[in-house]
Amino acid sequence: MARSADADSDRYEKLKRTIADVGLIRRGSLVRRFMPCGKAGCRCQARSPQLHGPYYQWTRKVSGKTLTLRVRPEEAELLAEWIENGRQLDRIVKTMERVARRVTERQLRAARNRREAKATSEGGRAGRASRSPARDRRRARPN
Ligand SMILES: [Zn+2]
Repeated sequence: MARSADADSDRYEKLKRTIADVGLIRRGSLVRRFMPCGKAGCRCQARSPQLHGPYYQWTRKVSGKTLTLRVRPEEAELLAEWIENGRQLDRIVKTMERVARRVTERQLRAARNRREAKATSEGGRAGRASRSPARDRRRARPN
């Protein structure tokens, strides 16, 4: 599906404004789990065990290390909201990158075409000289 340059630019501006509405963010993930306690005769040791819990664990990376912390249910509730906000921000930024890639590719192409048109209008020698740098730019294009 071809997207117009105007539509992409509008989309990008809208995405930027969407970021302003993202709430507080925290990273990591929450796990809700039920566990046995290990006490002999406890209901968690029965043939059809009733485990204890729920317990909440918050796992996140700090300076490259994975940290796991047990948190209370009321803390887990807050963290779940902040973590979701963080993921929402990531989704917005990802979409911005995709839209910006299309917009910037067009601008790079336009800059290249302007240069080639100018070189062509200045005569054959300059026209030939412009071809090689254009190829270099194409190779060096970042993802
Ligand atoms: Zn138990």
